[in-house]
Formats: sequence, C-alpha cells, structure tokens
Amino acid sequence: MPENKAVQTMDILRKIRKISNSREDATLKFGKIMETIAQSLQISVAACYVVLDDTYLEKIAENQQGVSINLRKSVRFEEGVVGEVAKTNCSLSKSLEIDGQNICFVGLPLVKWNRSNGVLLIGTTEESGLSEEKVETLETLAMFLSELLAAQEVADWRKEQVREKGISDRNRMRGQCLNKGYGIGYAVVHRRGQAITNIFAEDKEKERAKLSAAFAQMNKDLDEKFTETKLGLGEHIDILDAYKMFASDKGWYKRIDDNISGGLTAEASVERTYEDMWKRLSVSQDPYLRERLHDLRDVTDRLIGYILDRADGKSSRSNRDDIIIVANTMGPADLMDYDYKKIRGLIIEDGTPTMHVAIVAKALNIPVIVKIKGIASEIKNDELLAIDGDHPFVYVAPSKEIQKKIRNKIEVMQAHLAKNAKMKNLAPKTLDGVRIGLNLNVGLSFDFDYLDSTNCDGVGLYRTEIPFMSSPVMPDVQKQYENYKSLLDKAGDKRVIFRSLDVGSDKLLPYWNNIAEDNPAIGWRSIRITLDRRAILRKQMSALLRAAAGKELYVMFPMVADLEEFLEAKETLMIEYEKEKACGAKTPKKINVGLMIEVPSIVLQLDEVLKYADFVSVGTNDLAQFVFACDRGNPRLTDRYDVLSVPFLRIMKEIAEKAKAAGVYCSVCGEMASNPLEALALLGIGYRNLSASGAAFGDVKAMIRSVRMEEITDYMQTLMNSHRMILRPQLAAYAFDHGIEIY
Ligand code: PEP
Ligand code: MG
Repeated sequence: MPENKAVQTMDILRKIRKISNSREDATLKFGKIMETIAQSLQISVAACYVVLDDTYLEKIAENQQGVSINLRKSVRFEEGVVGEVAKTNCSLSKSLEIDGQNICFVGLPLVKWNRSNGVLLIGTTEESGLSEEKVETLETLAMFLSELLAAQEVADWRKEQVREKGISDRNRMRGQCLNKGYGIGYAVVHRRGQAITNIFAEDKEKERAKLSAAFAQMNKDLDEKFTETKLGLGEHIDILDAYKMFASDKGWYKRIDDNISGGLTAEASVERTYEDMWKRLSVSQDPYLRERLHDLRDVTDRLIGYILDRADGKSSRSNRDDIIIVANTMGPADLMDYDYKKIRGLIIEDGTPTMHVAIVAKALNIPVIVKIKGIASEIKNDELLAIDGDHPFVYVAPSKEIQKKIRNKIEVMQAHLAKNAKMKNLAPKTLDGVRIGLNLNVGLSFDFDYLDSTNCDGVGLYRTEIPFMSSPVMPDVQKQYENYKSLLDKAGDKRVIFRSLDVGSDKLLPYWNNIAEDNPAIGWRSIRITLDRRAILRKQMSALLRAAAGKELYVMFPMVADLEEFLEAKETLMIEYEKEKACGAKTPKKINVGLMIEVPSIVLQLDEVLKYADFVSVGTNDLAQFVFACDRGNPRLTDRYDVLSVPFLRIMKEIAEKAKAAGVYCSVCGEMASNPLEALALLGIGYRNLSASGAAFGDVKAMIRSVRMEEITDYMQTLMNSHRMILRPQLAAYAFDHGIEIY
C-alpha cells in the first residue's frame, strides 16, 4: 500500500474504531460507520448486510450520499450482488441502471474463519466505477468490519431478526442425534483460526519487530520438529521440505512486510496477505497450486499464533470439568486435542453417522448432535449448554428445570450402563443356545480398556490409522511395534484383527500433504495408497510381524476392489515375513490374512477371493456408501437410504452364505454391528460373528441374549420375500412384540 493511501485508510479506521467503542446499539453504530465510509471515500452508497442463517442476509445499516435508492432489507443467498458475494465469499462488481442513473455496485465479503458473516455493499455514480485505490482501502475496512460483526451487540441484533423471521429459536435448537445421550457442560467452540482484534498500528517498527521475531521462532521450531521427524519419515521428507520452504519463503515475508508499511498490525498483515494469495491461488487451474492453499492457511494460522504469543493455532481451551464441544466440522484427530474425560457432548454443524469423529465419539460414549446450521458461530465459549439426545435438542443457557430433567435422564442412562456391565461374564448366546462371536472394534488407546470391561471374544477390527492420525508425525516402525505389542499383550490369547493403514477420504494425516480430490471417498485412499507407497505398507507389516512374534497374527486389508490388490498386499506381507525369518528374528507362529468386504466389485469376485482369504469382515459403512452411490460424509443424504432395506440385506446375505459355504470366517465390523436393531437383522440373515464398538457392546449383547435365532431367521426370510423395501419399522415392531432388548 502506498503511504498516502495508507494514511487515509488509517484515518477512516481511527474514526470507525471510535464509533465502535461508543455505547450505542448496533444499528446506530453501523449507521455512523456507513456514513463515515461514504463521506470519507466520496461514494454514493454504503450498506452493511449481516448473515442470519444459510439462506438470508439482513441489512443492518446504510448511508446514501446524493442519491435515493431503495435497497432491499432482506436478501436471500445467491440473490443479487449481496447474495452472490455471501454465497461465494468473493468480491463482485456490477453496473445497474436505476431511475435512469448508472450505478456501479461493489460487494465485499465480510469473512471470518473462511465463512461470510456479512457483506459490505458500495455503490458509486462515478463513470469509471470505483478506483483500484478505493477498492483496496475498502478491503482493509472490510476486514475490520468483519471483526465488528462478531461483537455482542450485533449478535443480539441478529438474534432479534432471527426470532422475528421465525428462522430458529436460539435457546432450543433441534439437530440430528448420532450418538444418543444427555449432557450438560460449558461450550468450547472448536476453531482453528484465531480472532484478530487489532487491525491497524501506528508504530510500524514495533510491528516489524513482532513479525520478524515470530517468523524466526516459528521457523526455528519447525526446523527442530522436522529434524526429529525426518529420522522416521522415509519418503515423506519431501512433503515436510515443501512445507518448510513455504514457511520460510522470502516473497511471502515481503508481502506481509508491505502490508505493515500500509498501517496494519503484524497479525492483520499476515491475514491480509493470506486473503490476497487465496484470491489468486483459488482460481488457478493448476491443482498443485490450489493444493498449496492448505499449507498457506496452516502456515498463516501458525504464524499468527506466534505473533499473538498463543498456542500455535490450536483449539480453544477450557478449565471447566464439564465441556461440550461445538464445531463447524471436525476430524477425529481434533477430538483428541481435548481431555475426553471432560467431554459431555459434541455438537457439529454438519455431520453424518459414519463420519469418523462420530465413530470416535461413540467409542467414548459422548452424545453427538449434528446438523444445526450456524451453531458454531452462534455459540460463545463458556456458555452453558445441555444436550437431550431423545428429541434431539441442544439447549443454550438451559433453565433450572431443563437442567434437572437432563440430570434425571443422565441418571437413568447410568443405571442402564450399570445393568449392561453386570452382563460382563454372561456369554453372548441366544435364548435357543446359539453362541455368537462378539468382538470389539478398537482404534484409540483407551479402547484397549474395553477388552477387560466387555469381556469380548477378541478384537474384530483394530483401526490402525487412528494412532497415525493422532500422532503429530508419522509413527516409525518402533513406535508402531510398541503400540501393536501393547494391544496384543492386553488381549492375551484373544484374537486381534489388525487392519492395515486405511487413510484418505475423511481420514487425513496432519503431517501429510493431503491432496484435494473431486471424489475423495472413491479416490486415492486406503489400500490404493499403501500399494502405491509400498514403503509405508512394508514398514507396517514389519512392525506387526515383530509385535506378534510367537503368536498368531491376523492382518486385514481394507477397501480392496480387486482380487489382485489383495494378493499383492498379501505378497508384501509375506516378503516382510521372509525377511524377518532370514534375519533370524522370532516370527508369528501362524499368519492369517483377510480382507474387508467394502467395495461391490469384490462381492462379485467372492468365489475367487474366498479361495485365498483366511477370513473376511464386512465394512458396512463403506459398502453401503458404494452400493447406494451415496457419500457417507454428506449430511444431505444421511436419511436417504437404509441398510435395513431388501437390496442391501440381499447383498449382505449373499456374503454370509458364500463365506459359510467356503468355510471362511466371516464377520461384520461396520456400524451395523454396533446398532442392536441392525445387528438383529444380521443374525437373521446368517451372521454369527459381529464386531461392535466398546460403547455399544453391552446393548448388542443384551439383544443377542434376548432373541431366538430360529424365530428371527424365519422372520427375516419372510420379510426379505415380502414386497416391502424398507424393513426397519417391521423389525422394530417384531423386537418390541418378542421382548427383544433394543436400546
Ligand atoms: C466400514 O467401512 O464399515 C469400516 C468398518 O471401516 P471404516 O468405518 O473405518 O471406514
Ligand atoms: Mg471402511
């Protein structure tokens, strides 16, 4: 920014800041701010719109100089300049003829944490439109305005508008329940970004010193971290090097420094530089350049963290003993940033039952509510929240009565868990004496504790990617060995099925350069990655072979779409085995190799597959997503297709029957096995082995112990032959009539 322009911007910002510090209400303040902008920049129209929810924006204030234009009060997303800007988060200009006068409108997004929370609309009658200099000044003002929109009085104003429009009631919001339960706790809003409250500074040298110190410290810390990491990283060194080059880039530093010259604080300059680069990179046709945006966001957050002298871009913290996490969206590793013993609930704006953070939360017995639009920006840290999974509602600042009601429900739930715990030493056997193999799904290290508390038959699925996801660096062979060995030691004689690394799609590794794909669920993920990056697979196999020395080893490969992939993966395991033997190392006494049935093409190759596999396990989460061509991570599709429907159950039945005929052990380890009603259907179509999450284990066992296998088999046969497609209501009624425990 040239100096004279910077002086003008700072002058306007100073005036705006003075207005914003006054005690007036939001509409008056914004009215004065719009007037200041219009007069100072000599423009005809300045108006500010606030996002109410994901459909509407409402005008909070406007000012017109020498014109009289009827601006809309409410605007829908995508409608006109304002709606379009809110939708795309990008500036837009458009000329319109109003009452014979040509007006050039420019809309600027007021963005915070990559989401629009408002739009600044500017109109000018100047023939040539807005000059570049004015646009640049307005962009800086927009940054400040977006911070002002986060102020309490704007939140109150917004609440009032929302109430008037009947959009939602902030005190009781309805969502969708992904893990039933109840909780009361203080909100912790999970965000990656940090609020920038100081936008401009007068002492440029002080800001330069802050930037320089933060930049040096960040790079020093990254050097140290990466040097340690490199030792165990193998082929990932290049990824870290690329990131490091980015973080130490002189051009980037210079752009930030230029923004400081323009009068911004060091932190605002970093953010402003991000926005400028984002605008250029996001429209690039080069996927590699677009991909750099992730690094850019990350390194921006990190540097701002250093400048503000806070933890480097990590989530909010709370000293409370009872917390409810509110997030826009969340990866499973993010949840591990918190002390899980304190988490009383998880609320996610978007979310689907099989998203991994929900699976992790279930394992931890945390109630999960999803699909409440705007909640992450609505709720403030430390607000008291209550979750009632029955309806399912989230209460904000719940009354004493509601708190009492929820506490009662928590007590009843705890009594139920205590009852389940008493079944620990009872076998998972049906009323007519059929013994079901009931195994455990594990991922996090605290899942290992369920081995004792559930008295399970074994581990039917160890999601080995979870420790990879929660580690800041790629675990080396020794780390992996220690982890696998500790599980095997805990399991004693029980069978543990290790699934090879299943990353990609929504399971991202924090230290990995995750490539954005158009269709990640059917993209480069799981076995496709580990076959292409063979060193990762080899190392994992070697760690498993060492950990299981002297024991039986069970290895399972995920997302196999073709028999050849399975055979290749198996060969890799066997080569590692031969190497271990050649070195004289102690090896497992037997190696069992299996695969997950998750991709329809492998169901069509079952006859051949069963000749080579020692066991199979059905991953119903992925199988359902591919059978129905329905993204398991897309909240709009959550209720659309049902696994308790004839087409899906037909496929499931065929798998069970073929495995039985081939004499190959077959289990289900997808979420179906953790849902008592769905697990009941699985028993009825022939499954005799299930693998459930620790939290659901007791409920599934209670279901097994209250059913007659002969009867449910007959009933499922009848249902599958009926004209009905969705069987859930019939099955639920059957369970109720026959006293089958479905919790
Ligand atoms: C599945 O797809 O059903 C499964 C168990 O694997 P994940 O949920 O880890 O993808
Ligand atoms: Mg899967």
